[in-house]
Amino acid sequence: MDDTNFACTTCGQCCHDLRLPLTITEAIDWLKRGGQLELLCEAIPWPVEPEPDNAQAAYKRARSSAVMSGTLPVRVSIILAAAFAGACPNLRADMLCGIYDERPLVCRIYPAEINPFVPMVPQNKACPPEAWQTTPLQRQGVLVDASTYQLVQQSRLATQSETPLRIQICRELGLDHAALANEGFVIHTPDRDALLTALEQCCASPLPDDESAQWTFVSNRSMTMEALASVGAVGYPDQRTADKAFRYHGFFPSSLDNGQTSVDKR
Ligand code: SF4
Ligand code: SF4
Repeated sequence: MDDTNFACTTCGQCCHDLRLPLTITEAIDWLKRGGQLELLCEAIPWPVEPEPDNAQAAYKRARSSAVMSGTLPVRVSIILAAAFAGACPNLRADMLCGIYDERPLVCRIYPAEINPFVPMVPQNKACPPEAWQTTPLQRQGVLVDASTYQLVQQSRLATQSETPLRIQICRELGLDHAALANEGFVIHTPDRDALLTALEQCCASPLPDDESAQWTFVSNRSMTMEALASVGAVGYPDQRTADKAFRYHGFFPSSLDNGQTSVDKR
C-alpha cells in the first residue's frame, strides 16, 4: 500500500452534501443547534454466530443489535446522521468551520477512514491534490498520525458502546424497518423534538436489548424479497407510497414490478 502525506488546505470541499455519522452526544448538540438528523438503518441476516477468528464479522457484530425478522435472527446497525444538501449549516463564508472546537469526531478524522476494513483511497476523497503533501498520515496503509489515530480509536469505541442505545432510540420512536446491508439504507426522519427527547431519555435510562423485537426488511429488488421470504424473514417492497414513514435509499436500480427506482433525489 502507498504511503500517504496529508495537510488540510481548508478548502471546505468536504463540508458539502453529506450525511455525517454522529455520536449520540454530537447528535443531541446538532439538534439543539437546529440541525436535521436522520437514522439510517440496515440489517444483516445472522442465522448462526460466525467463527471467533472472523475479524470482520466481529467488528460488525460489535456495532449491531440482535433482533428478529419473522423467524430469522438478524442484526441491525443504526447510524445517526446529520443530513444536509449543499454547504453544512456550520460552514462559514470563509470555508472555515463555525463550530471548530465542537465539530464532530468524523470531521476531525476526515480524510482518514474509521472502518479498519475500508482502505483510504485519496482519489475517493474531496481533498485537492495539494493537500496530499507534507505531514505523514499513513505508512504502508497504517495510520501514523498520532492525533488522527487517537480520534479513530475514540470514534470506534463510541460507536460500539452506544450500539444498545441506538436500538433503544428506535424502539422509543417505533422505528423498525431496515434495508438489507450493502443494498441500501432505510432513512427515518423523526420529528426533531421527539428525537431529542428519545436521545436524552435513552442516555438517562438505558434499557436492556429486546432480542425478540421484530424488524422488517425493505428492498427494491424482487430477488431480495424472494430470498428473504425463503429464509423466514419479513420483507416490504419499496413502493414510495405517500403515507410511508420512511424513505428507501437503494444502491441498485429497482426490479420491482412497478418499475419505480429508489434513488434519493435530495
Ligand atoms: S461541522 Fe464543521 S467540519 Fe463538519 S462538515 Fe460542518 S462545517 Fe465541516
Ligand atoms: S476537502 Fe480535504 S483539504 Fe479540503 S477542507 Fe476537507 S479535509 Fe481539508
